[in-house]
Amino acid sequence: MSNLNTPVENLKGVGEKTAKLFEKLRIHSYDDLLNHFPADYIDYSEPVSVTDVKEGEISTVRGCVSRLTGPVKAGRYSVLTVYLKEGLHILEVTFFNQPYIKKMIKPGGFYLFRGKVVQKGAKLVMVSPKLFKEDEYRELLKCPVPKYPLTAGLSSKTVQKAVKAALTDTEWDEEIFTGSILNDAGIISHKDAVYGIHLPEDHDDILKARKRLAFEEFFNFIMLLRKNRSLSVSLPNEYKMIETADTKRFSEALPFKMTSGQKKTWDQIKDDLSGDYCMNRLVQGDVGSGKTLIAVLALLMTAANGYQGALMAPTEVLAVQHFKTISDYIKKYGICFRPVLLIGSMKAADKREAYAKIASGEANLIIGTHALIQEKVVYKDLALVVTDEQHRFGVRQREALAEKGGQPHILVMSATPIPRTLAIILYGDLQLSAIHELPGGRKPIKNCVVGTSYRPSAYKFFGEQISQGRQVYVICPKTESDEEDEGELENAADYANRLRDILPNARIEYLHGKMKPDVKNDIMNRFAAGDTDILVSTTVIEVGINVPNATVMMVENAERFGLAQLHQLRGRVGRGEHQSYCIFVSSKEDDTTMERLKILNDTNDGFKIASEDLRLRGPGEFFGVRQSGEFAFRIADIYSDSELLEKANEVCDKLLGDDPGLSKPENALIRKSIEEYAARSELLQSI
Ligand code: ADP
Ligand code: MG
Repeated sequence: MSNLNTPVENLKGVGEKTAKLFEKLRIHSYDDLLNHFPADYIDYSEPVSVTDVKEGEISTVRGCVSRLTGPVKAGRYSVLTVYLKEGLHILEVTFFNQPYIKKMIKPGGFYLFRGKVVQKGAKLVMVSPKLFKEDEYRELLKCPVPKYPLTAGLSSKTVQKAVKAALTDTEWDEEIFTGSILNDAGIISHKDAVYGIHLPEDHDDILKARKRLAFEEFFNFIMLLRKNRSLSVSLPNEYKMIETADTKRFSEALPFKMTSGQKKTWDQIKDDLSGDYCMNRLVQGDVGSGKTLIAVLALLMTAANGYQGALMAPTEVLAVQHFKTISDYIKKYGICFRPVLLIGSMKAADKREAYAKIASGEANLIIGTHALIQEKVVYKDLALVVTDEQHRFGVRQREALAEKGGQPHILVMSATPIPRTLAIILYGDLQLSAIHELPGGRKPIKNCVVGTSYRPSAYKFFGEQISQGRQVYVICPKTESDEEDEGELENAADYANRLRDILPNARIEYLHGKMKPDVKNDIMNRFAAGDTDILVSTTVIEVGINVPNATVMMVENAERFGLAQLHQLRGRVGRGEHQSYCIFVSSKEDDTTMERLKILNDTNDGFKIASEDLRLRGPGEFFGVRQSGEFAFRIADIYSDSELLEKANEVCDKLLGDDPGLSKPENALIRKSIEEYAARSELLQSI
């Protein structure tokens, strides 16, 4: 038996090579490995016969091989074709660059093939399936099979084997929750949960496992927040500001009037900045409600008072865009900003120049990504930090900033609707502003929810919009094709190439998160400048991008996204004077999926969408439609698990009520768990 800190090399079957691959996923110890949760599960279906396969579905076919051709060369590929025959029905099965399959298949034999079936002319074809032996497949049929996040060269099977080995070799700690906590919270033990998430016997096991793990995540998270609560109680205002004419002049010079929500929020911020306490404010406003303007006003007041302000964006693309917007404002309105950009992908020399300007105070507005709070940045007089579009700014960041000097005001902009009670649990002492309305004069976005057969009409529509000078976004869930996915999900790279064939005159580019930041920036800039007609992208463009000339948003595999996320994506269009359209393409057309997606048809109200989503999904839903990224929880979901969050909060209250420092011997394991979580968790960087 080994403890959880044992290196993975210790496991049977994990050699040096596999260990290297694990390292890429930041898996070093048993603990890391057991915390590497499946992203999804595959339910292998009962095999069907050749006569029963349906176009567009992933299925497993049991078929008799009538003949084989190839492998023949076709461009970069060697193609092997296997023909399965049953009566008059023939299914063609093609393998690319897998010549060895030929040796594994004999004409006249029965085999199992699993893959997606597509119509090619009059034929049905299964492309690049997986080949299974009968008994191997029987095994898979028994229970849900985990699909792990992977890296090139590592297969899900290898991870599975290592996980199994680690589970049996681990010497488990005692359960941390004692007394009636497990019962009261309705959760299973930690050990059972780790088994359940990796080796479920059925879906119920997965649900129970994820409930426990989500609870644990909330519990640790809240405990850490409490520990740092001293930082979130009201601190004295070290940077007291007065209202100058700058902000008034600027807002009056704008070509539009502020909405009443914007006005109210701005008034609250002015009061904060000039009041007795340090500001810690969350501004919630739906996509397109004009939060950037609020940020700019607050930063302008800061600059006008002779201090520095920082605007922190979640992505470089967005940071660059903010930099441009603000540079335009300076040109147009002559406001007193002296901005610098600071992002990770800048050349070392440019960064040094930026650091110098920040340190000397020559720059009074610093725009960038997380680079803004790194050690090397020394501020002269940082009085305000605005973070745009994400909750990735919390105690840790504040601590980091406090170490650099004073205690700046914090303003967080978010389009994610969180109920007030949750916000308070999550953020502690925090003021909230809400911008409820969108600026007037916008034409409501026209939505439709369709199946994949609608694509040709959509592409035709793209062509029409492009010829009118408009631009189009297409969102795909994946970056590039990979081995694990069975062709079920659209990927940005292949999609862009297909689209180039269909619309040869359109300028089409693709974008995804794995690209280098400067490459991403260039692509995004070309799109923003109108030099690209169609941008095929993963959800990297989800946050905050503002290209008012883009009027069409098409989301592929919409069923894979949470409604709140789809709503965010939709917010990328409808930002200008032109009528905009949003096309949600679902590759599943069952009633539940369609009912869920239709909510987006019926309302443009982000709050309503989030709560409807919650109602429909119920707290049991997992993985597939999780709201990913927003809070950097790995398993827990603040919407669908909101009850669990409240329970975890109660348990924290009770434990801390009895033992504020968690110093009693019976709480030693809990303390250890929180410490380990703190050490392990990336969350620490995001709270
Ligand atoms: P978000 O809240 O999603 O960050 P933005 O701040 O990007 O929204 O604003 C979206 C667009 O609306 C921008 O082009 C911005 O200039 C414009 N805008 C902001 N406030 C108003 C207003 N009061 N009236 C008209 N347009 C506005
Ligand atoms: Mg924004």
